[in-house]
Amino acid sequence: MNFLIKTIGCQMNICESEKLGFALLAYGASKASSFVAADIIILNACCVRSQAEQKAFSYLGRLEEFKLEKSNVKIVVVGCMAERLGTKLKQRFKSVDLIIGAKETDSIALKIVNLYGNNTLKRKKINVVFDVVKYVIVMRGCNNYCSYCIVPFVRGNEKSFSARDIINECILAAENGTKEIILLGQNVNSYLYKNVNFTLLIKKIVSIKNIERVRFMTNHPKDLSDDLINVMATESKVCSHIHLPMQSASNKILKAMNRKYTYEHYLGLISKLRVAIPDINITTDIIVGFPGETEKDFEETLKAIKNIRFGWLYVFKYSHRPRTKIAEMIDDVTLVEKKRRHSIILKESNKISIEIASSMIGSLQTVLVEKVDKGIIEARTESGRKVFINGGNEKYLGLQFNVCIKEAKINSLFGCIV
Ligand code: SF4
Repeated sequence: MNFLIKTIGCQMNICESEKLGFALLAYGASKASSFVAADIIILNACCVRSQAEQKAFSYLGRLEEFKLEKSNVKIVVVGCMAERLGTKLKQRFKSVDLIIGAKETDSIALKIVNLYGNNTLKRKKINVVFDVVKYVIVMRGCNNYCSYCIVPFVRGNEKSFSARDIINECILAAENGTKEIILLGQNVNSYLYKNVNFTLLIKKIVSIKNIERVRFMTNHPKDLSDDLINVMATESKVCSHIHLPMQSASNKILKAMNRKYTYEHYLGLISKLRVAIPDINITTDIIVGFPGETEKDFEETLKAIKNIRFGWLYVFKYSHRPRTKIAEMIDDVTLVEKKRRHSIILKESNKISIEIASSMIGSLQTVLVEKVDKGIIEARTESGRKVFINGGNEKYLGLQFNVCIKEAKINSLFGCIV
């Protein structure tokens, strides 16, 4: 059985696809070298944003055509989109053979293998190839029910995974060359498994031999504890970067979003973080055009962005997602207006990002090499910025060294080894 996995979604989806791939390999399946060589094509698609869902629909449309030419290919849809739409997907795309929702993650590989007929497969021991940077999922689901978000409906309530399993996964990765662990979860800082909270989990991971860096995402401001800030400030292996979604700076909109914090509280966290970790890079998410967002609300968010000066931000135009609370309200900000607000925020944020990045020119930054391609080193600073360096080879992979920054762009820096 040759399988091909297509992922449309966030880092969580990518990570889950990777795990599914390993599980299928262990069942005796093989990775298909191309679309045409695949016996089973698996689409792991996100439905959190309508844009991702539209992309997934268009991919399924292409698969419908492909199945006309190769009728024995099996098409499987897994993940959030499968959970949200269930059998409706089959009504729209007749070529889909199997739909497995995000709440059934533990049994996906077995169901796929059964679909193919597992009597032809022989379980085998696989050698997992580890990268310098390894993503580790520590929890799934969310209890927060932000009024615009579909995640709790498609992924279920928060479930933290066993601390022992997470640590074992990190140890195995470290023994096989991984230098950096990125802990992933929808609401990572509310992790709690028995008596291990997120701060304790981090402390255990930084003590693993050969792990040199630890990062985590995504955080909810209401769960950012003093303990976690303290661990970021005192544990040298915890990177000085935090992604802390603000969404809006208008308290009226934050309340309508059910975010459970005020802008003043958020600002307090920023100041605590900057006092404890002076060089911290704080990044964020913003939604524009939320139902009821007036020009004044928008101006408050824009002003906050100018004041806080995020390292970078992701800005999204609000769109209704079915089943969410706010979808019952009228989506009253026009698309034209959403686009205008989106472009103003983007312009301002790009201006700030380039100013911050330019201020790093001439400085020395410690980077970890993640990739070397055609003599170009791709490395990352502690603060999460990508740095390109000319003149490297494979021997640099996984090493940390100092780089002098020579040039800055919005999303990347260019430097030379000192
Ligand atoms: S915290 Fe809110 S936005 Fe984030 S996953 Fe949970 S419900 Fe969605």
